[in-house]
Amino acid sequence: MHKTGLVYHPDFLKHVTGKEHPENPQRLKAIVSSLEKSGLWSKLQKIEAKHSTLEWIERVHSKHYLQQLQGAGKKGAVLLDSDTMVGPNSFEVAVLAVSGVLAACDAVMAGKVRNAFCAVRPPGHHAEKERAMGFCLFNNVAIAARYLQEEHRLKRILIVDWDVHHGNGTQHCFYEDDLVYYFSIHQYPHYPGTGREEEEGEGPGKGYTLNVPMCAGSGDLEYQEVFETIFYPEAERFKPDFVLISAGFDGHKDDPLSDLRLTEKGFQKMTEVVMDLTQECCQGRIVSVLEGGYDLTSLSASVKTHVKTLLEHEPKKKS
Ligand code: ZN
Repeated sequence: MHKTGLVYHPDFLKHVTGKEHPENPQRLKAIVSSLEKSGLWSKLQKIEAKHSTLEWIERVHSKHYLQQLQGAGKKGAVLLDSDTMVGPNSFEVAVLAVSGVLAACDAVMAGKVRNAFCAVRPPGHHAEKERAMGFCLFNNVAIAARYLQEEHRLKRILIVDWDVHHGNGTQHCFYEDDLVYYFSIHQYPHYPGTGREEEEGEGPGKGYTLNVPMCAGSGDLEYQEVFETIFYPEAERFKPDFVLISAGFDGHKDDPLSDLRLTEKGFQKMTEVVMDLTQECCQGRIVSVLEGGYDLTSLSASVKTHVKTLLEHEPKKKS
């Protein structure tokens, strides 16, 4: 039987952002409880975070930023931008989140699991080289892409970002890179303001960034069409050796931070298309990393559906 890995650590709850903040520890508590109640929890292979991670974080973020972040919040919570809060433990928690994602990559590469989901926080795709942004401290997925290339000697990495917000940090990191393909589907216009169709990479990276902006009100059918008719053929041409998902669930119809109409069914469909693709080109290798999702009920239901699909979907081989 195929196995799906899960990264979770109770210390992820120690990044405290304040009661009113949408990106709070309750999110992970809701996810864990839903996975437990559904019986999925015991079927998942638990993956432990590894610990020598700073050198990998420095592949994406500057030393200066790391030092700044390490000192921030030590004497009490501070805001790093208009909505990114850090407290005394945030730096360590953010490092642990990266460690977990890298451990998930190792587990997939070692064949211990077919794919893995990382229930981590803080999220990552808005984090830039030199600064925190939009609830994000370290760009978990971008760091994982570099790790897979350098530590596991993989050549082509595909990042699929279906968070409702455009992943500006990830896009900037690989904008001139033809070996990391960044695909983002997101509500537009919306925070953070980037992610227009015309943003398609530069220099050697031209054509390796694909933004599909969606208007408010889009839902499962519109997303499915994009995944089947735009994403799949593009990704098939790129032939990735590994796929990372920036899995945000804030495009759900009940999420307070978006105006899309996605449901659990939509997230299931997107997961299936990505799995079908990886079956074709890279033995099903996927590490999916939690980004946004702020309505606890729809977040936990969507993650449950996503993880169940990662575990149970049998990808179709194209004839
Ligand atoms: Zn988001």
